[in-house]
Amino acid sequence: MSLENDYMLLSGIQHFTFCRRQWALIYIEQQWADNYFTVDGSIMHDRTHDPFFTEKRGTRIVSRAVPVRSERLHLTGECDVVEFLADPEGVPLFGREGLWQPRPVEYKRGSGGSLEADSLQLCAQAICLEEMLCCRRIECASLYYGELRRRVDIPLTDELRSRVETTAREMYEIFRRGHTPTVKKQRSCASCSLKEICLPGISKQPSARAYLARELFGGEGDSLW
Ligand code: SF4
Repeated sequence: MSLENDYMLLSGIQHFTFCRRQWALIYIEQQWADNYFTVDGSIMHDRTHDPFFTEKRGTRIVSRAVPVRSERLHLTGECDVVEFLADPEGVPLFGREGLWQPRPVEYKRGSGGSLEADSLQLCAQAICLEEMLCCRRIECASLYYGELRRRVDIPLTDELRSRVETTAREMYEIFRRGHTPTVKKQRSCASCSLKEICLPGISKQPSARAYLARELFGGEGDSLW
């Protein structure tokens, strides 16, 4: 589940927002199944995750695959890209002159259909960077959508930050208990990469006991035993 026992993977916020059960199956039970969407997304990430890539473009330093963590939120992960912008109120960076203010950029496949979950993940990355670098508040970050081929700027508002905090707290509570939520069948089950493992349709079926009782005796399951 985590690099250390008390940390959850930050990227899990996306899964948790999509479906809490899916998140628990992946991160607590360690089950995973790729579908077209997840494979396509991971190929795109491989392109951006070059940990040796750092370049300076004028008043901007671009770093890829930047590890981040927040002790307060129990989150750890990696930013696809962090841009450090020259800023007189920024923070010093090792081996660089001047002061710099960070700004995460997350790469996504698609065209923004999961903007809400993507924004939560992005905001969590910014909170991690603030905590690690002791920099001032990051006001804005960006999502790059592969199908749109453009960046979308996301203001990191108080409301978005508060939702990240609430989500991380709920995740941590479930994580600590090692509890996998029960199935709640929803429209997104159709595109879920774990539907063959989760079997959402089965929850709608009567129990084996009820089935046997009905078939054998025409009664309720509890009267069998
Ligand atoms: S199939 Fe549905 S209930 Fe099951 S993990 Fe996926 S989205 Fe969640």
